Parts: sequence; C-alpha cells; structure tokens
Amino acid sequence: MQFARANQAFAGLCGGGKMGWLMVQDPVCDREVDRQRAKAAGLTSTYKGQTYYFCSPECLREFESCPGLHINPTLEATPQEAYAG
Ligand SMILES: [Zn+2]
Repeated sequence: MQFARANQAFAGLCGGGKMGWLMVQDPVCDREVDRQRAKAAGLTSTYKGQTYYFCSPECLREFESCPGLHINPTLEATPQEAYAG
C-alpha cells in the first residue's frame, strides 16, 4: 500500500499571491491596458519620467495633446463640476 500520488492541486492558478499581471490603466479612458501589448503597438508616452500606456492611438494622441489634463498630480484637488468641454 503506497500513497505515491502527487497532489496536483498546487498546479492550479489559485496559489496565493495576487496576479502580478502587467495591466496598467489608460489615463485617458481609464481602461485596462496590457503593458506589453501597448508597448509593442507603440502606444506609450513618457511624461515627467513616467511612462503611460494607451489602448488606442486616439487615447495616445489625446494624452499627448494635454498630458496634465489626464493625470492628477494631486488628488487633493476636488473636481469641479464646471468642466468646459
Ligand atoms: Zn484608451
């Protein structure tokens, strides 16, 4: 009587540890973007030493036209209701 069967339950995806996946947020549309994919597609932009990734060329262009509009350096600032656009 031998119990040599290896328990393969540990081979599953649920192994503790969060998904360290390379998903980042598109600062323009708030969508999740695969970092490597965006990089491969050239949908990246560097602003103030920080690299941002985008889901589409439209978002990239939008960001580059006015980066400060899409990133919040200070979260203390309360959003105004009046947002001309
Ligand atoms: Zn986007």
